[in-house]
Amino acid sequence: MAEWVYSFGNGKADGNAAMKNLLGGKGANLAEMSSLGLPVPPGFTLTTEVCTHYTTNDKTYPDGLKEQVLDALAGIEQIMGLKFGEAGNALLVSVRSGARASMPGMMDTVLNLGLNDETVEGLAEASGDERFAYDSYRRFLQMYGDVVLGVDHHMFEDLLEDHKDRRDVLLDTELGAEDWRGLVDEYKAMIEKELGYPFPQDPHEQLWGAIDAVFGSWMNRRAKTYRMLHDIPEEWGTAVNVQAMVFGNMGEDCATGVAFTRDPANGENTYYGEYLINAQGEDVVAGIRTPQPLTIAGKHGEQLSMEEAMPETYGELLGVRSRLEGHYKDMQDMEFTVQQGRLWMLQTRNGKRTTRASMKIAVDMVNEGLIDKGEAISRINPGQLDQILHPTLDPDAERQVLGIGLPASPGAASGRIVFSSPDAESWTERGEEVILVRIETSPEDIGGMHVARGIVTTRGGMTSHAAVVARGMGTPCVSGVGSLSIDYDEKTLSAQGDVVREGDVITIDGTSGEVMKGKVPTIQPEFSDDFSKLMEWVDETRTLGVRANAETATDAKTAREFGAEGIGLCRTEHMFFDAERIIHVREMIVASDEKTRRAALDKLLPFQRQDFVDLFTIMDGLPVTIRLLDPPLHEFLPQSESDIANVSEAAGIEVADIKLRAAQLHEFNPMLGHRGCRLGITYPEIYEMQARAIFEAAAEVSAAGYSVHPEVMIPLVALKPEFEILKKLVDQTAEKVSREKGRKIEYTVGTMIELPRAALRAGEIAETAEFFSFGTNDLTQTALGLSRDDAGSFIQIYREKGVLENDPFVSIDREGVGELVRLAAERGRAARPGIKLGICGEHGGDAQSVEFFHETGLDYVSCSPYRVPIARLAAAQATLGVKARDNA
Ligand code: ADP
Ligand code: MG
Ligand code: MG
Repeated sequence: MAEWVYSFGNGKADGNAAMKNLLGGKGANLAEMSSLGLPVPPGFTLTTEVCTHYTTNDKTYPDGLKEQVLDALAGIEQIMGLKFGEAGNALLVSVRSGARASMPGMMDTVLNLGLNDETVEGLAEASGDERFAYDSYRRFLQMYGDVVLGVDHHMFEDLLEDHKDRRDVLLDTELGAEDWRGLVDEYKAMIEKELGYPFPQDPHEQLWGAIDAVFGSWMNRRAKTYRMLHDIPEEWGTAVNVQAMVFGNMGEDCATGVAFTRDPANGENTYYGEYLINAQGEDVVAGIRTPQPLTIAGKHGEQLSMEEAMPETYGELLGVRSRLEGHYKDMQDMEFTVQQGRLWMLQTRNGKRTTRASMKIAVDMVNEGLIDKGEAISRINPGQLDQILHPTLDPDAERQVLGIGLPASPGAASGRIVFSSPDAESWTERGEEVILVRIETSPEDIGGMHVARGIVTTRGGMTSHAAVVARGMGTPCVSGVGSLSIDYDEKTLSAQGDVVREGDVITIDGTSGEVMKGKVPTIQPEFSDDFSKLMEWVDETRTLGVRANAETATDAKTAREFGAEGIGLCRTEHMFFDAERIIHVREMIVASDEKTRRAALDKLLPFQRQDFVDLFTIMDGLPVTIRLLDPPLHEFLPQSESDIANVSEAAGIEVADIKLRAAQLHEFNPMLGHRGCRLGITYPEIYEMQARAIFEAAAEVSAAGYSVHPEVMIPLVALKPEFEILKKLVDQTAEKVSREKGRKIEYTVGTMIELPRAALRAGEIAETAEFFSFGTNDLTQTALGLSRDDAGSFIQIYREKGVLENDPFVSIDREGVGELVRLAAERGRAARPGIKLGICGEHGGDAQSVEFFHETGLDYVSCSPYRVPIARLAAAQATLGVKARDNA
């Protein structure tokens, strides 16, 4: 018979940490901790296969499941010496979801299940604490009412607030047994009124209701959105964990908390965490009370650390720290509860951390002998590297601080304030950069948090929902800025004497916790020693080369600093837009015959040459691939009347004739029109001028002692003769310049492969082409017949409906576009063994695509300068066989 249920507890377990696919992360690690002999309340896990069965079989369960659950429940009863549903001696359980990948806050946990009007009395008697029993019951009514029965949690909160008003108290902690007893009655009455039937009293009915709810929640909107954002497939399913309750809310010798074995913000090897005395699990994350630090070292001002308040239990927790880290060989994020001085472990997992922390932890762990270099490399998420490659706040800039909160997720961000997630999304769609400001966040805010540049909350600690999710997303976040107050109706944020409104710009610093008025200037990042060390290991490991796409001196410098091994794409047209030259470019375009066109090109030559002199000098010793003019000419045409008048004067052509020329150049579909090598074929003098500029610059720079390696690239080739004709033109120009300058110039001529026909005919093109660079942006557009500029309106729907798994402009379409790349590489190599193969589309900086290019055996990828370290890391991971998807 199939095993649907796995038990754990009492130093034993059916499962283990390696079984995450079947038991989910939480279940697998509960089993592992239990086998390690750590104090884990006994329980059992319903597997992810049950979830798959449930979602694909119309919400029904496989045969045998009910019996297995009853058996496992009996196992818990035996260990605990309690009975589920027995009034004087009731076993209470929690029902907890847990998928393979942690999905923070996506699915809700129900605590204290098994309580009813009778068992609550029994609990009161057994514990001798009526307040505790009724507090637990009202929590259960609310959680179950909300998560399982679908009664809005505000209804419960409103009743609680009304009750406190009537009693004239501010804090929950001021309420006594009678209050909770009264609220329990109010909650039950309200639930019955809302639903038309009473709250289920039968513990077994409660249990199955909760299990149904967890499995059902796998398909809710929130979960679906999260999965889409994080590339988690629907087939994975979630597991359900049912576990004996332990109580952190039984008095002052009880507590609940979370702990990280190292600091998740900076990676320091210090114990880090928060706890709350006399509280139950969700209180810590919900941000209702402000948690206290675990250690003395972690105190800010007047706080009481656990190290001081509960030294013995703290000592035990310290033991668990080294035990777990030694065992998992990674930083752990654990949840624990203390019941009357006794420590219970409720969860452990590899902790989320900032990029800075992940690098420090990885490098430290190699030095501590816990892991090897390859493991260290595979631990860093290439996408996450983005966080540290960007500018930080200028320390010398003036700051107008509105308030200071907790530094929940590092990095700086400026943007316009919005107060809700839907607003964040709609403002972002309009092209605004926003900072999402909330009292606290909940899973409903995922969409808004994802688009926001930064997040601020006025409540909640370092482990609040906002903090955890922001760190995972790499979004700067300041949490718990208690001195600021939000008015959602007026859409204002007020500090003492200062009010900022929706749409006003603020800046946040997630490293210092400051929230500032206006935009604060930024500076380039400085790299830590850990980063350098790690990248050194990365470069030792990878076999795929990494270049940068760059045309300006600034970009080229950044590229070198970030470790680029050359320029893979220099787009010469970007050099044409400069104010001084655009006029000559326009003269060239409006010219009606070759002679006038050449005259205009002669004026452009010195500018273009100087551009290349600069690039070659900066890239000394490294190859520079220069693409000859690519876009349709009309992109450069003057638009305004005054621009037209200027060109008319400079070129000596009537305004009317210029307008006529513009009309002639108009195209219905310029992307497939008169562009790329088609320009070179029709106006050879343009490419001739560019080739001359390249070779004159090369001669000049190499005469000055630099080592220059130009690679001249012809764009948009579809037909063999196109390339042949233009290669000849380039060769002849090189020959001429070489003779004029008396210097031999080393160079190669190759082509972009960006049209399906070129990919298919790569064999014959390679007879003359000395290198290929795959232009995967255009290749994606032409292979899918999909315009990148127009795809935005429907690609999201395609992803939601599962038509497309990824946006093909972000991550290469392996099966289609990838097939063309593979084929062209094969045919090109067959015709010209050793032909150099690279790619220069956006995909060069995407980890999943880099993995594909490595597998396809290309020589290098080229991406924007800021993405170079990401590509280097992704290339090393591809060499190590780390799946890019698991890293998402
Ligand atoms: P999440 O996935 O949102 O973290 P969990 O299933 O971990 O949800 O539950 C949240 C919190 O509820 C836990 O951190 C813990 O404090 C509390 N909790 C869960 N199960 C139990 C239990 N059996 N006894 C006591 N507290 C529990
Ligand atoms: Mg939760
Ligand atoms: Mg948890």
